[in-house]
Amino acid sequence: MHLLHHEASENRTNEEILALIEHVNEGMRGLSKYNTVSREIYDTLWADIEIQLCLASTDEFGQATDGIVRKQLAGPIPDSELVMFDMRGYSDRWDTDKYLNIWIGSLGDNTETYCGVATDATNPHSSFPNGYIGISLNLDCYNPEQILIHELGHFLGLDHLYFDSIVDTPCSNNAINPEPECNAIFLELNTCTDLEDYWGGIDVPDMIENYMEYYGNCSKMFTKGQKAAMHQFVEAHYTEMIESESSECSALSDILEVNETKTLRIFPNPVTDHLVVHSVKDFDFEILDISSRVVIKCSSKRGINTNVSHLLNGIYFLRVFSEKKYEITRFIKCSS
Ligand SMILES: [Zn+2]
Repeated sequence: MHLLHHEASENRTNEEILALIEHVNEGMRGLSKYNTVSREIYDTLWADIEIQLCLASTDEFGQATDGIVRKQLAGPIPDSELVMFDMRGYSDRWDTDKYLNIWIGSLGDNTETYCGVATDATNPHSSFPNGYIGISLNLDCYNPEQILIHELGHFLGLDHLYFDSIVDTPCSNNAINPEPECNAIFLELNTCTDLEDYWGGIDVPDMIENYMEYYGNCSKMFTKGQKAAMHQFVEAHYTEMIESESSECSALSDILEVNETKTLRIFPNPVTDHLVVHSVKDFDFEILDISSRVVIKCSSKRGINTNVSHLLNGIYFLRVFSEKKYEITRFIKCSS
């Protein structure tokens, strides 16, 4: 992570950078905090991508690092697409076979401003034949954490839905500018009226829930087809990166480990009516359904016994917050 800053306010703390990465990882695991839209037709395509980012723990020379390079700039970064792509000019990239380089900086928030760009291993930007590979992100844009997930999709070989050939993403002709807020009007959008075989020959609406569309905090999912495409792409192009010791995730992987929790116990599992949760500390918790909708939210002192009998049968996630960290565990609800 290359943090470029000019004004003092543009310098970000390690905690802010970690929060950005955590948000991305939650999105990749299908646990987005933005759950404003939910439609059954698309919720069934929800996928846990099982890919996460973590800060590098070893640099190119084998030295320990926190994975964050800070560059104090002499002046503000000009706002233009080319500069956006060449933010690497302010801070040298690390070996792109072993690291994903992400340059973050403040380029202003007017409507003409570029928010994020990315290129992948097969598609270096034409203006930079030496291979710009990585992501640049303008922290002044709205929802930069959502935009980072979108750009990571590009880095992992995905295209916008109006270009892609993945069967479970509906066709789209939508090439409008990014929209910051999730508006109910977007649910009506149907910019491509093709009848699609995947849905049994009907014309389905735009998938505004998808990170590869442009709907800010409507975005909350990738599909199973996109997951398969990303995994294929990683195996074809980023093997060194995933096998590299420098990418060993330490703290972050503990935070996001699904299923395995250290301080949290739940029972019974599967549950029919009352779920008992015990923790060694006071905690707040949420129960999310498989499409990441929060269905129960509560504060507690160490132990709770919560009625889940009204939930439909299926898989749920219990997310417990304690001392700025959280743990996630999965449980199954079934009828008696
Ligand atoms: Zn894009």
